[in-house]
Amino acid sequence: MSSVAPPPHFADLHLHTRYSDGTFTPRELIQHAARLGFSAIAITDHDTLDGIPDALTAAKETGVELIPGVEITCRFGEQELHMLAYLFGDSWRDPNLRDVLCHAARVRDERAEQFVKKLNGLGIGLTMEDVRAGSECGTVGRMHVAMALLKRGVVTSTDEAFARFLRRGRPAYVERYRMETTETIAHVNRAGGVAVIAHPGLNTLDDHLAEMVSQGMAGIEVWHTRHSPAQVDRYLRLAGDLGVCATGGSDCHGSGREGMLLGRIKLPYERVEALKQRAKHGAAAAHSNE
Ligand SMILES: [Zn+2]
Ligand SMILES: [Zn+2]
Repeated sequence: MSSVAPPPHFADLHLHTRYSDGTFTPRELIQHAARLGFSAIAITDHDTLDGIPDALTAAKETGVELIPGVEITCRFGEQELHMLAYLFGDSWRDPNLRDVLCHAARVRDERAEQFVKKLNGLGIGLTMEDVRAGSECGTVGRMHVAMALLKRGVVTSTDEAFARFLRRGRPAYVERYRMETTETIAHVNRAGGVAVIAHPGLNTLDDHLAEMVSQGMAGIEVWHTRHSPAQVDRYLRLAGDLGVCATGGSDCHGSGREGMLLGRIKLPYERVEALKQRAKHGAAAAHSNE
């Protein structure tokens, strides 16, 4: 009996709820995580921290540690990328970071309006009310426009909506605003959080990771459900070479299209500890010591 090892502690640092495009409420997600034996999870909805208060309440009830997070869409040159921010302690309340995210949400809303105007110009009767009706939490994006077109019977699938109208080069396409990666990292660090590039295997920015690290990026998401074993090896090596944290998460969006991904990535809790240390010492400070 004395030889029984203590139970392993593991985490999932990349999860979505209904506050962006997931199907679970924060509470449902945390209950699933508790059942699967997770010690800690991070909720990282797209460009919003609105789900965090609910999540913190639910986490307290289940005993699962909730790390407040957000997945911020930004750009590096012409490429769009996703930057995860982990906001330990109270840093998720940082007013500047909230302003930045609110501004992005407003711009996204305006973009949805422009889509609707262009579609109206093409003779398609769609209103912003139709678009907003498909959103659980008030923020709307291009996907909500596609769903509204589907609901109106203009198209027979959201794929068709993108192919005919909403994709770049199609008649209702609207260019989007994206924060620069370097600004995003700076905002996250200023708030007291740490910035970690999400699923780099889905981008072609590997040659620029060192530059992002020099701007204060604190980690690389190594383990992700869409990374191949070869990519995991590669990013683990890169994280080591660059002296940054290696993190991981399933990117579960609930029980929708891809199925339940929660439970597929079990990040050893020591990796979370390392990230916390990094946040404590400040990514910029850690860097200036090199
Ligand atoms: Zn992403
Ligand atoms: Zn994600």
